[in-house]
Amino acid sequence: MRFGYHVGVSGPPVSAILNGIDTGCDAIQMFPGSPQQWGTTEVGDEEALEFAEAKRSSGIDPVLLHSIYLVNMAAPSEQIFKRSVASLSSALQKAERLGAAAVITHIGNHKGEGEEYGVRRIAGAVTECFERTGGEAMLLLETTAGAGTSIGNTFEQFGAVFDASGWPARLGFCMDTCHVFAAGYDIRTPEGIEGVLEEMERFIGLDRLRAIHMNDSKGELGSHLDRHAHIGEGEIGLAAFSYIVNHPALRDLPAIVELPHESPEDPDDLALLRSL
Ligand SMILES: [Zn+2]
Ligand SMILES: [Zn+2]
Repeated sequence: MRFGYHVGVSGPPVSAILNGIDTGCDAIQMFPGSPQQWGTTEVGDEEALEFAEAKRSSGIDPVLLHSIYLVNMAAPSEQIFKRSVASLSSALQKAERLGAAAVITHIGNHKGEGEEYGVRRIAGAVTECFERTGGEAMLLLETTAGAGTSIGNTFEQFGAVFDASGWPARLGFCMDTCHVFAAGYDIRTPEGIEGVLEEMERFIGLDRLRAIHMNDSKGELGSHLDRHAHIGEGEIGLAAFSYIVNHPALRDLPAIVELPHESPEDPDDLALLRSL
């Protein structure tokens, strides 16, 4: 497994690689723009070159982009929907420019319109994103904790989104350990993890799983709380992470920790995961 953090971008895109080097990442995740604002910044030719050079010499691979928080592909509001598609499309273009493997996104909330509506809406957004962008960068739908009217807290729902989208080659998914646990999948035991892998295989196919978000959970099993804890310090516990890290089906995936790591008091999650 290649371990890394979600790193900050403090200036040009290359600063994300530098932050990744500083914190001992083999892979990184970064935002394509300000996470709370619509609209993206273009990547200049020089910036793209600088990024590619730093990526190559550091060996950091893959680079993953995480869509901004405002994106809601299932939004009943036409304006939010259009902005979401535009934001994801520009993130996919940015990924292509930077040589990033994928854009990871939360898939959305139907806001009371129902699951079927949500699934159709998301499939429409996915189709439009791929119509607007070429290239190889994948769009990875992230598993959710299942709060409110969110779509994506069961693998069956994911399967429905893939079905409705027509299984485009560039569509994949990302499993967040905290979200899956909060959604009600008990991954604390080997049997529990095997059960999750079976469901993924049945409804989507493990070949579409392209990244893991490796976070422990402050919330209990089935709590629907999206609250990350440092590895081994939450309700999931270290034994589960040991099993996940060493699982043959997951071995080749990048695993991104989405927790603070800047201050000396923060535990070194990457070192801990590697020790497993
Ligand atoms: Zn995540
Ligand atoms: Zn989360």
